[in-house]
Amino acid sequence: MKKRFGIDIDGTVTCPTSLIPFINKAFNMDISYEDINQYDLTPFVNVSKDEFAQWFTENEPTIYRDSPLANGAKSVLNKWATSHELFYISARGAHLLAVTEDWFTRNGVLFNHIELIGSHDKIETAKKYNVDIFFEDKHDNAVAIFEECHIPVILFDTPYNQEPIPKGVIRVHNWHEALDWVDHWLKQQTYQTVQS
Ligand SMILES: [Mg+2]
Repeated sequence: MKKRFGIDIDGTVTCPTSLIPFINKAFNMDISYEDINQYDLTPFVNVSKDEFAQWFTENEPTIYRDSPLANGAKSVLNKWATSHELFYISARGAHLLAVTEDWFTRNGVLFNHIELIGSHDKIETAKKYNVDIFFEDKHDNAVAIFEECHIPVILFDTPYNQEPIPKGVIRVHNWHEALDWVDHWLKQQTYQTVQS
């Protein structure tokens, strides 16, 4: 049965450590991934919130162009792409669509649609496209999407998303664990369809 997968990009399809070398270089720091225990990075840098936001906006195209893939993401996503639809839903701004599509093409990651919504509120977009499952690294997004859309949400474990999760949010440590969970979920869906 064909499913539509809603997938976050940054820290989910791209490696969650992607930003750190850029920050360390720009601000002459030595932050390690393990230190990043919250999503907002402002407290970790030695500049004001506005200055950091400005730096981020200016550097987004470079960061997104050079972000490495998360381990295992490509093989798992491209496997799913043969029987399901992959809708990438990201908080990136719409002006970054070309750099984003180019990244997917260069990295050989298949996609059906990329929607850059320019905000972290993905619920409306997840509902609009009727996605059946979502993949995230941001804790509050994962919980909100599960609660509002009533779909399973796979949360990729990172140091910055350690808060407790409800039962419908499934914490995994890598894409291979996500693949196992989804395989099992798809089998259950098929079974339920046969039963009903
Ligand atoms: Mg993300």
